[in-house]
Amino acid sequence: MASYKVVIERDLCTSCENCVVECPEYFEMDNEGLSHLKESQRRDGNDELKMEDAKCCLDAALSCPVLCIHVYEDGEEIS
Ligand code: SF4
Repeated sequence: MASYKVVIERDLCTSCENCVVECPEYFEMDNEGLSHLKESQRRDGNDELKMEDAKCCLDAALSCPVLCIHVYEDGEEIS
């Protein structure tokens, strides 16, 4: 079974909220006005979350105008 990881490069986020509209199950805006992955770990200013199914995170990544959401499948970037 594949494993997935989603990363937000928060320093690139423009606070447009597209990701929250596309995937509210995983994305929310935090009190800094930046996108945040729910229950994620913060590494070097980025949010990282591992999951069994990328679900709507792929739609969120495609909706991001600055391409700062990355989705990895078995370690390979797919979006
Ligand atoms: S879609 Fe991208 S730029 Fe817009 S809030 Fe989400 S992470 Fe930030």
